[in-house]
Amino acid sequence: MRKVSIFGATGSIGQNTIDLIAREPGAYDVVALTGGQNIARLAADARRLNAQIAVTADESRLGELREALAGSGVEAAAGTRAIVEAATRPADWVMSAIVGAAGLAPGMKALEQGATLALANKESLVTAGELIMRTARQHGGRILPVDSEHSAVFQGLVGEDMSAVERIIITASGGAFRDWSLQEMARATPEQAAKHPNWDMGLRITIDSASMFNKALEVIETKEFFGCPHSMIEVLVHPESMVHALVGFKDGALMAHVGPPDMRHAIGYALHWPDRRKLPVERLDLAKIGTFTFRQPDPVRYPALRLAHEVLEAGGLAGAVFNAAKETALDGFLARRIGFLQMAEVVEEVLERLVASQCLKNAEMTLDTVQETDHLARKTAQEVMAEQD
Ligand code: NDP
Ligand code: MG
Repeated sequence: MRKVSIFGATGSIGQNTIDLIAREPGAYDVVALTGGQNIARLAADARRLNAQIAVTADESRLGELREALAGSGVEAAAGTRAIVEAATRPADWVMSAIVGAAGLAPGMKALEQGATLALANKESLVTAGELIMRTARQHGGRILPVDSEHSAVFQGLVGEDMSAVERIIITASGGAFRDWSLQEMARATPEQAAKHPNWDMGLRITIDSASMFNKALEVIETKEFFGCPHSMIEVLVHPESMVHALVGFKDGALMAHVGPPDMRHAIGYALHWPDRRKLPVERLDLAKIGTFTFRQPDPVRYPALRLAHEVLEAGGLAGAVFNAAKETALDGFLARRIGFLQMAEVVEEVLERLVASQCLKNAEMTLDTVQETDHLARKTAQEVMAEQD
């Protein structure tokens, strides 16, 4: 039986992963499941899958988790440290699906054990790409992309060499506001931004899709994972969300990955890699769909894409600044402290204040320096928002 752990088990990616695992009874030995506030779901899944341990990120809810697991034989633990400790338990395959920078430390720990890390948590690559790729190499761990675009590129590169690749095109649905004017976007509410036209995902990534911050993170993720120059990476708006990415080769050929907008495809590919197995996803009827459309993203409505290239130009810890500023600005938008378009203004201002500073330029990338940079960028983003109040 394959030993598997799922970090962020109670979220959208975590639940899709559990859906696939539960369809193959007897194939998996579940080691650790982790969650945050959704104790009922965490406990129910840990019982159902007979996990070794269930961990909530919230220390104040340990009693509740213990109670929910009473008599099941599943251990209970709580707190950020307990989540990282759970990643030291031997597992063959680990799903990294915590949302935000909190996903980095457990993913690193799993790689240090030599596990295969199925990486949904794009923030790990954005904040600490060089570090996480190095850790995988040093410990014989492997990273398999779960973000749909990156899984698509990864699949397009099977049997190919990166030296034959000329460009990588990742697509964006355009999110909730793809047909909205700048004036309408300025007044958009969190409720409106939380309605994704095609994908069913967690709240934060859904709003990041509407602002294209999600695609900005993915441009950085592409560069870090595939090691290509960022000038090779392009973004196209593709409202149908069925062509997830295209790899362009030197001979002019484009290899496109086409599939329904269902994350179980990318998760299943990472779960069964290097094999392909039957997956419970819709089979596309292309004649019925008829048309795929593509267009350039509007740089005025989506400044996040320009910022991603500036971050890659700066290199080093700029990704950690970008992600932390973005997470803090998103909190500000969710709390109705700043408007939808102000998120990018806050992030740009934080980048201006921090990325040019000498200390960030010379700092070596370690888990500590990444986390210190993350704290500093969050603090700076708070200051910027306070100045705008
Ligand atoms: P969700 O918000 O649905 O789930 C997030 C998970 O992380 C939940 O299990 C949540 O627990 C847990 N969590 C939240 N905060 C913390 C914390 N501070 N420490 C530990 N655990 C925490 O997110 P998604 O599943 O949508 O996304 C997960 C990751 O995958 C993100 O990095 C996202 O960008 C990426 N991704 C997601 C896609 C999708 O389709 N959803 C597609 C591609 C990438 P609880 O809910 O119990 O509070
Ligand atoms: Mg994606």
